[in-house]
Amino acid sequence: MADHNENFAPSAEHLKAQQPSGDGATKPDQPPQPTETASVSSSSRDTKREASWPSVLFYIHLNILGVYGIFVLFSHTSLITCVFTFLLTLFGILGVTAGAHRLWAHRTYEATALLRFTLMICQTLAGQGSIYDWVRMHRLHHEKFRTVDDPYYSDKDFMHAQVFANIRKLSPRQEQLLAAVDMSDLEADGIVMFQRRFYWAMYLVLFVLLPINAPLEYWGDTVQAAIFVAFSLRYLVVLNVAWLINSAHFVWGLDKNHKQSDSNMVFLVTKSYWLQYHYLLPFDYQSGEFGNYGSGCTTAFIRIFAAIGQATKLQTITTEAVKRGLTMAVDSGRPIVECLKQAGAEEMCNLKREHYLETERLH
Ligand SMILES: [Zn+2]
Repeated sequence: MADHNENFAPSAEHLKAQQPSGDGATKPDQPPQPTETASVSSSSRDTKREASWPSVLFYIHLNILGVYGIFVLFSHTSLITCVFTFLLTLFGILGVTAGAHRLWAHRTYEATALLRFTLMICQTLAGQGSIYDWVRMHRLHHEKFRTVDDPYYSDKDFMHAQVFANIRKLSPRQEQLLAAVDMSDLEADGIVMFQRRFYWAMYLVLFVLLPINAPLEYWGDTVQAAIFVAFSLRYLVVLNVAWLINSAHFVWGLDKNHKQSDSNMVFLVTKSYWLQYHYLLPFDYQSGEFGNYGSGCTTAFIRIFAAIGQATKLQTITTEAVKRGLTMAVDSGRPIVECLKQAGAEEMCNLKREHYLETERLH
């Protein structure tokens, strides 16, 4: 379980949240550079990742219990436990997406202490390791996206990125890169550092004991429902949704090397290439190209908290600025991500403060 914290947490550098991968290391639309390949073969020992056997055993165990939880869900679980589990799952996912990912890893908006505290509690309900560890891994993921230094790198397929990358130890080189990630902004955040310091105590109380104890103690549900549904099944769902942040580009991305050409059917379901968008524009709080309320509960969550004054300085970009950024990239030969970031930043000062109240994407 301890290893799970190390390997299960996703993470990019602040800046680098703010200059999203403008450094040549992250070129979402390009394969690893030849120089990278050469360095891999010359230092394969540094990039080799061994299995983390505690994580492997933990994951097998969790899958068996979680899948059994589906059976218990439909046979021995009261409605109130179903609602309770759903809410805990939703809060945990929001803690990762609105909190660890969009607020802390990418700084797509700013939040009051009350909202940060709320998101910290929610992120603890996700069981993904501390915010600090999660963000550090995710920042490295963006910085080294699609290179062997990416902690979630896979040159194979979705399953390798979704499962196998998460049950391996980091390579010595990845350990070094991880230690070099700039985390100064999170180190200045008392709420993040408090959670990091007391993470395992909070994990035990909020993530393990509360979900198991509440159904037994407060509404007399069965032991099976408490353990297999409220804990195991919930853990399995939250874990896999969070891992999707790092692996979904195999399914929702646009790279023909990683998917069948007819998998654009996915677009008909999600109505978005949000993932491809995020790797190009990680500073956009909407994490998607459309940004209306139907595009995701996380975007709606951030907008609602902005409307009541708890979230401010929501970063986004207009279609016009995207065009300018792309033109700038073609004209200058600089990385696309860097140009989009610059075009977006130049325009932010001209946007209305309440631009998030628009129901459609800004034009
Ligand atoms: Zn990200």
